[in-house]
Amino acid sequence: MKKSFFFKIFFGYFFIIFLLSFLFLVSTFKTIRNSYIDILTGNLKNLGITLRLKIIPLLEENHFEELDTLIKKLGRNINTRITVIDPRGVVLADSEKDPELMENHKNRPEIRDALNGETGKSLRFSTTVKGEMLYVAVPVEKDKRVLGILRVSLFLKDINILLGNIRSRIIQIALIAIIISLSGATLFSKGLSNPIKELVRGARKVAFGDFDVKIYLRNRDELKELADAFNYMTHKIKTLFSDLSFRKGELDSIISSLQQGLLVLDKDGKIVLSNESSQKILQNNNIEGKLYWEVIREPKLSDLIKRVADEKGSLVGEVEFNEKTFVCSAIFIAAQEEIVLIFHDITEIRNLEKVKKDFVVNVSHELRTPLTAIKGFVETLEDEVNKKHIHYLEIIKKHTERLINIVEDLLLLSEFEEKKAKLEIEEVNLNSLVENVQTIFNQKIKEKGLTLELNRDKEIPIIKADPFKLEQLFINLIDNAINYTEKGKIRLSLTRENQYLKIEIEDTGIGIPHENLPRIFERFYVVDKSRSRKLGGTGLGLSIVKHIVLLHNGKIDVESTYGKGTKFKIILPVSPS
Ligand code: ADP
Repeated sequence: MKKSFFFKIFFGYFFIIFLLSFLFLVSTFKTIRNSYIDILTGNLKNLGITLRLKIIPLLEENHFEELDTLIKKLGRNINTRITVIDPRGVVLADSEKDPELMENHKNRPEIRDALNGETGKSLRFSTTVKGEMLYVAVPVEKDKRVLGILRVSLFLKDINILLGNIRSRIIQIALIAIIISLSGATLFSKGLSNPIKELVRGARKVAFGDFDVKIYLRNRDELKELADAFNYMTHKIKTLFSDLSFRKGELDSIISSLQQGLLVLDKDGKIVLSNESSQKILQNNNIEGKLYWEVIREPKLSDLIKRVADEKGSLVGEVEFNEKTFVCSAIFIAAQEEIVLIFHDITEIRNLEKVKKDFVVNVSHELRTPLTAIKGFVETLEDEVNKKHIHYLEIIKKHTERLINIVEDLLLLSEFEEKKAKLEIEEVNLNSLVENVQTIFNQKIKEKGLTLELNRDKEIPIIKADPFKLEQLFINLIDNAINYTEKGKIRLSLTRENQYLKIEIEDTGIGIPHENLPRIFERFYVVDKSRSRKLGGTGLGLSIVKHIVLLHNGKIDVESTYGKGTKFKIILPVSPS
């Protein structure tokens, strides 16, 4: 059961008042009773002292019968029990009983004290009269000789009747005090609990979204401060809330106007947010609340999402669905454990690229036959024209060869890019392959005054590769090294590293500026256009080299210091599969 604040305060007070009143009454009753008994003891002692004068003569002369009669008469008159005992403890006279029937009183505590010359006092149950009694005993002495003991006693029930009256009076007063205190406690508890109730009511309203609630208290204490703080808080929350709503509205309109498709997935893969573009992309307006794989059955996308969730980072990948191509960026949001997916439609770009590539392939195909024909006719003419014109034919031949090279390179590259190129895998002895390539360039190296250094491990394994493509790779790289080196040497090294073969082609040439390095494997990319043209370069050589390395499941890297030289590093598996 829920106990209210009022209930707790009120019953706290009630308990304290009740406990204090009880302790007060008990201690007051005890004090009054003790004081009353003290006064009565004094009175009984005085009475004993007065009475003993009357009995001394009777005791001296041993007139015990007369003594008993006198005691009985006195006892009736003053409504008090009186007993006379001799020094041996024998009862000589008693106002209530026949002394002969009474037992020896020597061991009664008040008698023992009186026999020692003191006033004896005892409060106990009397077996003779069957009731609780207060006894006071005084010694009866004559000439320092104890003649007997005079004991005066009162029934305690008489004292209790008297005390009872006082007690009920005190209880009446205490009850009035309790009622007044409890009324005060009720008012005080209400004074405390009412403002708290007000605060609870206000807090509930806030919880239900009513931020206009205000609490006004008449108190001038901490509760008032609390109410003021509450009012300030609701005002602040209201401002923040409207600010947030405004921002959310703003964000919602930005998200819905985004050209890119946006999806937010929770940690179970459920779509918790989607914008209009994503609904258009997925051709479904009802995707929120569904699991993403119910909406997009694309293994590449599932794979991307799983990797992002595992790595808790961000990734970009190309995915295709509904006959369109998208670049999808997936970002893991750690705080909410959510994944944000952004789809950028690149179908048009891909189509254009394809058109461009197809155009290049078509043009290259169309050019190949006439160019070969031109070259053939030029070679035939070389034998027939006179020496004067041979120079022109040489120029025509050089340019035709360059054009044929470009066309051949373009066709090869498009084959690689279309993934049509196949490797003719054979067992290749790199030693003899490299030596063949070296012979091709011997003349050119000599003409430029360079040297070609061959460093090979003693045991270069026979590798499984396409020998023609590898030859092309070496030709392109060594040709570049010679073309871009004016003095110094070219070093070619082959090293075995476990299941891999490391090929390094290093020169002491012009080097490549740092900022150009990331782009040199791109198609048609040249660092210095005029120089490359003069040397007959096309910007396709390194692109072809990279494709050949990738087809063999290898890796290519370049290091270069501008003005000092360049080093190409290739790692090839001994067996490519
Ligand atoms: P190109 O036919 O022009 O040589 P490549 O694709 O083979 O085309 O090379 C691209 C560019 O990279 C070259 O134009 C040249 O600027 C640079 N390059 C390639 N190899 C070297 C090298 N060994 N030293 C300096 N620059 C180089």
